[in-house]
Amino acid sequence: MEPLICEFCQHNTAARRVTKNHWLNGRLYIVENVEAQVCPECHERYYHATTLDAIDAFLSQEHPVQATLQVEVVRMQAKSKQAG
Ligand SMILES: [Zn+2]
Repeated sequence: MEPLICEFCQHNTAARRVTKNHWLNGRLYIVENVEAQVCPECHERYYHATTLDAIDAFLSQEHPVQATLQVEVVRMQAKSKQAG
């Protein structure tokens, strides 16, 4: 994937391998070693459509699993206008 211009801060992105949270068919996967272009300034990540398709294809067939995690889903509380 070619370097891009970050759409938020206009810096040139660089090729990196990242760990991506990836949803497929209602399930969350943590996918390691994913090709991405990453902005060195704001850390925004950009993925090529073919990379995302490759992840979907990999997950859709039988695949090795490195680990299975339980995760907490939490929600931040809205700040009360009276507080503080
Ligand atoms: Zn940026």
